[in-house]
Amino acid sequence: MKIEQEGRTVFPVIVSNSSSLKSVNFYLLKERETLYLIDAGMNDEACWNVLLHTLEVNDLSLSDLTGIILTHHHIDHVGLVDRIVLHNQIPVFVHEEAVLRLKRDSVFLEKRADFFEKLYKEMGCGEAGEKQARFVREAIEKNKDNALKTCLTPIEEGFLTSLSLRIIKMPGHAPDQIALYDEKRGWLFGGDLLIGHISSNAIVEPDSSGNRIMTLVQHRESLEKCLKFNMNIVFPGHGMLIENGKSLIQNRLRRIDKKAEKFVSAIGKGFATAAEIAESYYKNVYYDHFSLVMSEVIGHLDYLENQGRVSKTKVEGVWQYTIQL
Ligand SMILES: [Zn+2]
Repeated sequence: MKIEQEGRTVFPVIVSNSSSLKSVNFYLLKERETLYLIDAGMNDEACWNVLLHTLEVNDLSLSDLTGIILTHHHIDHVGLVDRIVLHNQIPVFVHEEAVLRLKRDSVFLEKRADFFEKLYKEMGCGEAGEKQARFVREAIEKNKDNALKTCLTPIEEGFLTSLSLRIIKMPGHAPDQIALYDEKRGWLFGGDLLIGHISSNAIVEPDSSGNRIMTLVQHRESLEKCLKFNMNIVFPGHGMLIENGKSLIQNRLRRIDKKAEKFVSAIGKGFATAAEIAESYYKNVYYDHFSLVMSEVIGHLDYLENQGRVSKTKVEGVWQYTIQL
């Protein structure tokens, strides 16, 4: 498959899998002599082979690549970077917030582990929170070899002249998420900002200094930013290409509001901490997918707090939420 318009071609590299994400997608973007790779899949043979095959059937090769741009630092978007750069030493562009994460900077990762330890304690998660915080800290040593070896070039928000693409910061799903926007064609390479078949999570993460950020509030703002764009095709990080971007965004925004109302009613029933709300709403899923569930609950509570719908007070080190009348 290829999408061609006015001298510019996208060759999607789509690697199907059996997960709920359905596929890992990355994209070759060609115009005249430039060939950029937007994202770099998982570090596995399936992604590597599909990339090589996509290049080959389009009379291209790794040596034709002129650069890689990463939409965010998640493992399923950056996997092949080192392997590609070993074959062809090309620049790799990332948001400046991605560098510490991709290089697995130990000072930052310790700060990140401290952040989660404190956060889960303050959200009343007890033992489940302590367990997850330990897991985050142990992963620093366990995953240290996953650090990218390639030199990374921080990219500024603005216009990438060599590609006539606008780089737009779209934090929320990840603090370092960017989108690449081709205004002329209405093409948006959004990473995991917008996925057709599932709503992408605003995953709670600290910023590079270890401070808390309101990830769901940011995610909403990023989605709202896109509503102003002319979007003919959204090229997502997973699943099918999206042609109804605007109505899908409206759906996603409505879903956030609906879920926030569910949490308001949980608070109304007397569930006062984020952990109590999570357990009452998600039951066992709270324990099985602890960090994702807590991202959902904390994110929506932040959103409600930001709107002045709820407020929180600290009682014995734990935030208690109440409805603002
Ligand atoms: Zn992601």
